[in-house]
Amino acid sequence: MIPSMTIGITDKLEELKRNGIDIIKFNIGEPDFNTPENISNAAKKALDEGFTRYTVVSGILELREAIVKKLKEDNNLDYEVNNIVVSSGAKQALMNTILAICEEDDEVIIPTPCWVSYIEMIKLSGSKPVLVSVDEKNGFKLNIDKIREAITDKTKAILINTPNNPTGAVYSKEDLRELGKLAVENDFYIISDEIYEKLVYDGERHVSIASLSSEIKEKTITINGFSKAYAMTGWRLGYAVGPKDIIKGMNDIQGHMTSGPNSIAQKAGVEALTGPQESISIMIEEYGKRRKYLIEKLQGINGITCPDVKGAFYVMPDVSSFYGKEYDGKVIKDSIDLSEFLLEKAHIAVVPGIAFEAPNSIRISYSNSLENIKEGIGRMEKALELLR
Ligand code: PLP
Repeated sequence: MIPSMTIGITDKLEELKRNGIDIIKFNIGEPDFNTPENISNAAKKALDEGFTRYTVVSGILELREAIVKKLKEDNNLDYEVNNIVVSSGAKQALMNTILAICEEDDEVIIPTPCWVSYIEMIKLSGSKPVLVSVDEKNGFKLNIDKIREAITDKTKAILINTPNNPTGAVYSKEDLRELGKLAVENDFYIISDEIYEKLVYDGERHVSIASLSSEIKEKTITINGFSKAYAMTGWRLGYAVGPKDIIKGMNDIQGHMTSGPNSIAQKAGVEALTGPQESISIMIEEYGKRRKYLIEKLQGINGITCPDVKGAFYVMPDVSSFYGKEYDGKVIKDSIDLSEFLLEKAHIAVVPGIAFEAPNSIRISYSNSLENIKEGIGRMEKALELLR
C-alpha cells in the first residue's frame, strides 16, 4: 500500500517548524474553525447523563431520524432509517460500502484527480481501481465519454466526489444525470461522496445524484458526514445511505469490525443536524472570501493556470510550466520537487498533485486565514521568480 503523501509532507513541515521556521500551511484537509459550541455542549450533556455505552451498530435512532429529515430537506431524497448506517467518519462509510458491493477482480471507476484514499480502499477490497481523468482544461468537469469507454463487464461501481477534493470542482446536474443514465443502463453502482456538499460558493448548487431519478437512486450509495460541514473532524462521524440490502451488508461488516460509532459523538451529531445552522453560513462566507482572493491571485501569477472552481476548500493550479526550471543547481522535475521547493524557499506547505493523480498540479487548501493566504501567496509568487 502506498502511504499517504499528504502525511509525508506534514512530517517534513513539522520538522521545519521544530527548527523555528514559520510555515504557512496550505496542505490542510480540515476546517480551520472550531466545532460550534452548541454541538460540543450536546456531547458534554451526553457524558453527564452517562450516555457512554455501546449503541446499536447502525447508529442511534434519533440520529438516523435526523439524517432522514436532513436528506429530505437538503437533498430532496426520501429514505427511511433502515436505509442508513452511521459510521466512524465518512472514511469508514466509504470502506464499508466498497467492502459490501465489491468482490475480487471487480472494477471501480474513479474520476481523477481524486482523493488519496479512494485508490487504496478499492485495492484493499481486492477489486481494481480504473482511473479516468476529468476534463482539466474545462474546470475539472466529468468527462462522460471517457467514463463510457472505461466501462467493461467487470465494472461494479463508479466512485465520485462532488464538491471535489482535490480539485474544488462541483459537478453539474446535467453531467450527473448523464452519469446516472450510464450506471442504470450498464448496471453498476454509484458511490457518491458528498462530504463537502455545504461548501459551495458564488451561487453554485450541490446536487445529489440519487435525487435525479428513482432508477438512479436504486443504484446509488450516498456518503456524507460531519467533518467538513460542522468542523467535526476529530469526532469521527459519517454515514452511508442507500438501498436496504446493501446497507444491511454494511451493517454486518461494521458490526464485526468496529460496532456502532462513538455514542457521545452521535449525540453531538443529532445537535449538529437539528440545532442552529448559522455556523455553516459563517464558514461559507469566510471560505468564499478566501477562495475569491486566492483564485484571482493565482490567475495573475506568470506560469500558473487556475480554473475558477466553486466548491470545497481547495484549488488545484497547473504548475507544469515550471518543470525543467532550476534553482540552487537543482532541477524541478515534477510536482513533488515543486512542493519541496515551495516549502524550502517560500515556507509554504502545499500537496504535490501526483498524490491525487494530477502530476501537473499542486493542491492548495484555503482552510487558513485570509491574512495567511495573502502572506503565503505573496511568498509563493516571489519564490517562483527564482526559477530559471
Ligand atoms: N471524503 C473526502 C473527499 C475527504 O476529503 C475526506 C476527508 O478529508 C473524507 C471523505 C473523510 O471524511 P471523515 O472525516 O468523515 O472520515
